[in-house]
Amino acid sequence: MKVGISENILQVRARLAAACAAAQRPVNDVALLAVSKFQPVSAVLEAHQAGQREFGENYVQEALDKIAATSELRAELVWHLIGPLQSNKTRVVAENFDWVHSVDRLKIAQRLSEQRPGHLPPLNICLQVNVSGEASKSGISPDELPALAKAVSALPGLRLRGLMSIPEPLEGLDAQRAPHAWLRRWMTELQAQGLALDTLSMGMSADLEAAVLEGATLVRVGTALFGARPAPQAD
Ligand SMILES: *Cc1c(COP(=O)(O)O)cnc(C)c1O
Repeated sequence: MKVGISENILQVRARLAAACAAAQRPVNDVALLAVSKFQPVSAVLEAHQAGQREFGENYVQEALDKIAATSELRAELVWHLIGPLQSNKTRVVAENFDWVHSVDRLKIAQRLSEQRPGHLPPLNICLQVNVSGEASKSGISPDELPALAKAVSALPGLRLRGLMSIPEPLEGLDAQRAPHAWLRRWMTELQAQGLALDTLSMGMSADLEAAVLEGATLVRVGTALFGARPAPQAD
C-alpha cells in the first residue's frame, strides 16, 4: 500500500509542530525542505499540490531535469542544492538554484558568486560543517569555519545565510541533540563576530525533533515524506 505524499506531509508537519511546542518555539520558525532526490517529477508535483514549496536535491543533473520539468511553477518553487558540488558544475547551479547548503570551500563560493546572473537575487548559501569528526568526510572543519564564513559573506553574488550539517546517524534523542547543539553554538559564535546569519539547516527524517530542540530553522526531510527512495539514477 502506497501512503500518499499529502498524508505524509501532514504527519511530518505534526511532528514539527510537536517539536516546536516542546522547544517553546513558534511553529513557523522551522521551514520544511522536501528532499526529492531519486523521486520522480510526479512526486514533486504531488507535494506541490499539497502545499509544499521548498525542495532539496543532491545531484545537479537530476535536479536540473526536475527544475526544467516543473518550469511553469518556477516562480512558486524554491530549489535547494544539498549535495556535494564540483567546480565544473557551479555555473548551472548559480543559474538555476535558489540555495546551496553544501559549500565547504572558498573556491566553490567564489565561482558561484562570479557566475550568479545579475538579474537574479544573490544565491543563498549555507556552509556545510563537519560535526562528526573522523566519521564524516564532508564539510569544513570548525577551525577553518570563521575565516571561510567571513570570506563568503563578502562575495557580492552570494548571501551567506547560515550553517548546515549531516551528523553521523545516532540513536536516541540526547545523542542526536549533541551535534545539533554544537552547530548552534557555532552559529551563535559567528553572529557574535558580526555575521548576520539566520539559518540552521539540520535534522532529517530520523532526527528532526532533536534538531528543532536545538534551534534548527530548516529541516531536510526525504524518506518521511516520500517513502523509501527508488534506486539511484546515474548522474
Ligand atoms: C538524503 C538527504 C536528506 C534526507 O534524508 P532522509 O533521511 O531521507 O530524510 C537530508 N539531507 C541530505 C544532505 C541528504 O542527502
